[in-house]
Amino acid sequence: MLPGRGQDGRAARLARFLGTRVAWTEVGDGEFFCPGCGGDRNYQRLTGRRRFTLLGVPVVPRGDTGPVVECAACRRHFGTDVLDHPTTIRFSAMLRDAVHTVALAVLAASGTSSRTSLETAAATVRAAGFDDCTEEQLNALVEALAADTGRVYGRPCGAGLAIELHEALDPLSPHLAPAGRESILLQGARIALADGPYTPAERDALFTVGSALTICTDDVTLLLAAAARTPS
Ligand SMILES: [Zn+2]
Repeated sequence: MLPGRGQDGRAARLARFLGTRVAWTEVGDGEFFCPGCGGDRNYQRLTGRRRFTLLGVPVVPRGDTGPVVECAACRRHFGTDVLDHPTTIRFSAMLRDAVHTVALAVLAASGTSSRTSLETAAATVRAAGFDDCTEEQLNALVEALAADTGRVYGRPCGAGLAIELHEALDPLSPHLAPAGRESILLQGARIALADGPYTPAERDALFTVGSALTICTDDVTLLLAAAARTPS
């Protein structure tokens, strides 16, 4: 006989005799990124009522527990804070929108939408996931933006565009590693540099991008300088 076997046996019998059980109730569902099995999954949000059990039968209510999020695939339970993390699909959409907004902000600041700027911007936006983005589309959007806000071409990043940048970048940046944040800024920098050195308005727009991405001013300065030295 193995040592301790008898004690374990008694503990197991006692656990069957007396225990707690949680009865879970579904209070919602959706899609989330499961940190347990690593992917976009369905989830159920559950709240539980804890009860003492005697011989497996619930007897005394022991109050509420949870809420928890249960993964439909791996069945693991997580705190509801896992829902703060975007799904992979949502994350790539946020990233795509961010690059698109940055491209528009830089083009709007450029003043003259040169062919090379538009080509660089369209290629950047396509690479970010808008497969059918064309130079003409971007140009039309920049003109519409200028007409809409009454802004004059070549003026520093207007308040409207600054708000757009913050709306696109603020929810994204907490989920990006520093290199990911810098990459978005550098894509904007390359669009600005496509038709020559940064204009003051382009620099201004890129600093707004940097601040929305929570990159400090000193780092933005260094990154913009490095981009200007590197041939694209
Ligand atoms: Zn899972």
